[in-house]
Amino acid sequence: GAKRVNVALGDRSYDIHIASGLLSLAGGLIKPILKQQRVFIVTDENVAKVHLGTLKAGLATQNIEAFEVVLPAGEATKCFAVLESTIDQLMAQGADRNDVVIALGGGVIGDLTGLVAGLLKRGMRFVQVPTTLLAQVDSSVGGKTAINSKIGKNLVGLFNQPEMVIADQDVLQTLPVRELRAGLAEVIKYGLIDDLSFFEYIELNAEKLNAASPEALAEAVRVSCESKARIVSEDETERGKRALLNLGHTFAHALERANGFGPALLHGEAVGCGMAMAMRYSQALGLCSGQEADRAEKGILALGLETDVRKLAGGPYEANALLEHMMHDKKAEQGKLTLILAKGIGQSYIEKQVDVEHLLAFLKTET
Ligand code: NAD
Ligand code: ZN
Repeated sequence: GAKRVNVALGDRSYDIHIASGLLSLAGGLIKPILKQQRVFIVTDENVAKVHLGTLKAGLATQNIEAFEVVLPAGEATKCFAVLESTIDQLMAQGADRNDVVIALGGGVIGDLTGLVAGLLKRGMRFVQVPTTLLAQVDSSVGGKTAINSKIGKNLVGLFNQPEMVIADQDVLQTLPVRELRAGLAEVIKYGLIDDLSFFEYIELNAEKLNAASPEALAEAVRVSCESKARIVSEDETERGKRALLNLGHTFAHALERANGFGPALLHGEAVGCGMAMAMRYSQALGLCSGQEADRAEKGILALGLETDVRKLAGGPYEANALLEHMMHDKKAEQGKLTLILAKGIGQSYIEKQVDVEHLLAFLKTET
């Protein structure tokens, strides 16, 4: 059956619809919010090939006309030039303030389109139709939108919440297996942050999740979205608790940076290893037992992810370089490093006083 998660944020809220076959039903879901019987779909070339037709057919059942903008796939699309050309194309097609934009794609399309919707004619409404697992459990929820600048990733953006999110697990069937696993890293993250019983669900269903079982994925997406929605609604603009979502990410960003953000290492692959490092470092600090750290690592491995820096793609990685990258990450303040550490599985917390020398010694044992 269909599942629904409500994201409540201050003065407004919206629903995340989660089920197989939703692309075909999108017309019925979207029709109530339309003022004119038309939508503007922004997608990328890969997704257009496999899922645009299904979405358009689903819209056509409700006589909704669909315009489309098809962008190149890949992170490079999150740039000023594509932002501009997307806005130009939408305006040439006649999009105005009363219209709704649909982001059909992974996090790249979702981030760019959310920003486009926030800017065009001072703001249009938009709907997220995430087609990667990462986008279904992470980027489509919470309202962060952005493009990259020359200076760094995600530096130009808005907090902009969608009207709704439509997460269809059928679309995940065409996802390359590496992209699926990268998404699973963000899924297990929610268990590790504050939900031991979800971590247990993942342990028990690792094989099904790896095989992209729509039922197992729908449940994983539901719990992940509930978890992210809860954390985000408590801290929409990331002043406090939202930082927990960065579990494993300071390590991961250092690995990605050391790899020059090359294609050898996906973000989620880095996060899988980064979370294992966070658990092992928590163990080294005496915060959690070796048993807990081992169990976390086993769970990550069961999803087909790598937990050993020495075997991780894109390496070799060197301790001093990793530390330097960690210090430059936005979580470094006044010489002291902030890390998300854990007192056990599902017991993560924000540690603001990480000793840099001690951390370097740990990194040397890892690399
Ligand atoms: P992506 O959008 O680049 O998609 C990955 C690849 O899969 C692309 O080649 C895409 O064309 C392809 N693809 C997408 N759906 C497919 C499908 N159903 N079948 C076949 N191929 C498909 O990458 P992503 O991992 O989804 O998102 C990464 C982006 O998300 C990054 O830019 C990151 O900064 C951003 N992000 C944002 C937030 C947020 O809160 N806004 C959170 C996490 C990540
Ligand atoms: Zn992430």
